[in-house]
Amino acid sequence: MNTISHARGVERLVRGQDTQDGAGVRLTRLLSHDLQQRLDPFLMLDAFGSDKPDDYIAGFPNHPHRGFETVTYMIAGRMRHRDSGGHEGLLQNGGVQWMTTGRGLVHSEMPEQEEGAMEGFQLWLNLPAKDKLCEPWYRDIQSAEIPEVTTPEQVLVRVIAGASHDVTGAVTREHTEPLYVDVHFPDQDGVVLEQAIPSSHHAFLYVYRGGLDVVTAGAPTAVPAQRMAILSNGGDGVVLRAQANTRAILIAGKPLHEPIAQYGPFVMNTREELAQAVDDFRAGLMG
Ligand code: MN
Repeated sequence: MNTISHARGVERLVRGQDTQDGAGVRLTRLLSHDLQQRLDPFLMLDAFGSDKPDDYIAGFPNHPHRGFETVTYMIAGRMRHRDSGGHEGLLQNGGVQWMTTGRGLVHSEMPEQEEGAMEGFQLWLNLPAKDKLCEPWYRDIQSAEIPEVTTPEQVLVRVIAGASHDVTGAVTREHTEPLYVDVHFPDQDGVVLEQAIPSSHHAFLYVYRGGLDVVTAGAPTAVPAQRMAILSNGGDGVVLRAQANTRAILIAGKPLHEPIAQYGPFVMNTREELAQAVDDFRAGLMG
């Protein structure tokens, strides 16, 4: 299987910043504000993972959002969400909540466990200007509903968004064309996975178990666990060669090339639109 002829390399490795959000949840912010232009259309990626309840138990009480999409992927643990539209759902092991905040809503994301491990990711995906004030929408995708493909080399690919090895993911998006896959390598060193990525799309990956090499025509670049690798632009895909039992998420999308204006949980195109978002929230127009 040699379908990638010009493989992307690693532009740089990112360690992320340990921080707290919500009511005191400890997390690592991998994609931070300074990378929003470079990784357009993605605005944020947080990794959370702890078996100490004090690190997660306070959760994310009621807070608003406007202007983008949030994609929460739970590796371990249970989180209940409720929003101002009357929707409620339970996100658990291997499941995804995909929420289009559109013109705005208020929601909470609270752990539904008092002990054990809580591990997962929250990704923010921008909306094009014309859709920022759309009707809010969300979908809870249980683990069993996430399409999976096992390559001939026995790499399991969970296709949350986009497409991989001819399998279409749980979600597709017209303007940003996101790819979001969770790859599980087998119990054997040196197994290779290829993934096609359009040359104009921005791409990055995060290794959450094990370690892998990003393989190019030149020297490979090692990406250890708990590192995000920003992939160079261009080429037709990426080639990964991993240690046994490595797990990583790989994310790519088509840049919007629109101005980004952010104030906390609101992401619009101009300062005026942010001021309007704050006014609308204070006036109770987000529910
Ligand atoms: Mn939220």
